[in-house]
Amino acid sequence: MKKKIAIIFTGGTIAMKIDPDIHAAIPALNADEIIGTIKNIEDMAEIEIINFSNLPSPHIDLDILMDLFYLVKSKTDDENTDAVIITHGTDTLEETAYLLDLLLNTKKPVIIVGAMRNFSELGYDGSSNLSAAICTALSPNSIDKGVLVVMNNEINAASEVTKTNTLSLDTFKSPEFGPLGIVDNDEALYYRNIIQRQHIETNKIEKKVGLLKCYAGMDAGIIEYYINNNYKGLIIEALGRGNVPPNLVPGIKRALADGMVIGLVSRCNTGRVLYTYGYEGGGKHLKDLGVIFGGNLPGQKARIKLCVILGFTEDKEEIRNLFEANL
Ligand code: ASP
Repeated sequence: MKKKIAIIFTGGTIAMKIDPDIHAAIPALNADEIIGTIKNIEDMAEIEIINFSNLPSPHIDLDILMDLFYLVKSKTDDENTDAVIITHGTDTLEETAYLLDLLLNTKKPVIIVGAMRNFSELGYDGSSNLSAAICTALSPNSIDKGVLVVMNNEINAASEVTKTNTLSLDTFKSPEFGPLGIVDNDEALYYRNIIQRQHIETNKIEKKVGLLKCYAGMDAGIIEYYINNNYKGLIIEALGRGNVPPNLVPGIKRALADGMVIGLVSRCNTGRVLYTYGYEGGGKHLKDLGVIFGGNLPGQKARIKLCVILGFTEDKEEIRNLFEANL
């Protein structure tokens, strides 16, 4: 019997064409038109088409993401559905993928896919990427792998993958440890597993979590904004191993005293943050103040993680343990 795959269409370049009036790409293709670009799909699987939205991914916010989560969950809970594929704009694809990875508790394959070239361009990659996602969804090897991102015939884990290039077709990379596998000859081939995966059982997330990138000579003015606007959490993309300019420290102290949770990651592309340096603003100083450490996550994913954790608990010790787990 053919497997049943639910394909949820959310928009992105995979659904875009060049508008003749504005000479730029905008959402234009519906789900049937995208599916229609793939040959023989009905021989491979039974497809359920779900039109969720037709949004560029910079338009996707946390409310929309939670609606998407409930929809995906209803499909993975449905015994008639074997796998779920989500088509998505590539700009915020990694945030959606990671949120679903943290919130879903399923062994069924859940795959996110997009395209870098729109339908009006030569070499539209939507068909090949969606075909590879379907092959991945059908593979028994894809069971219990967490949420996967399939682009350019590579299979990456949602928890590790990031968009690395503004243009290139192989933009989605796991810079720390490489892909989990590849799609070759219509087959999903895996070379490693993620040993530590994290699931947080919550239907609620905290939206008031900000993200700040450090730079030389920075001061604490911007932190006042987050305090005054009642933010519950803040991710700081620190320098190097996890250090901030000393003039940021008074703001960090005020935010912590106000009850804000501050998570630290690095603005470097790879490597963990750690409490290696003891000077003013160094990682050890920040740890002693109560800042929590986000390992090798990029800022945008650490923010998603903190949104989920703060939705789950207000207990500071539990927040730290969950944020620092598996990193
Ligand atoms: N700007 C587009 C989006 O994220 C890029 C893409 O889909 O590749 O919707």
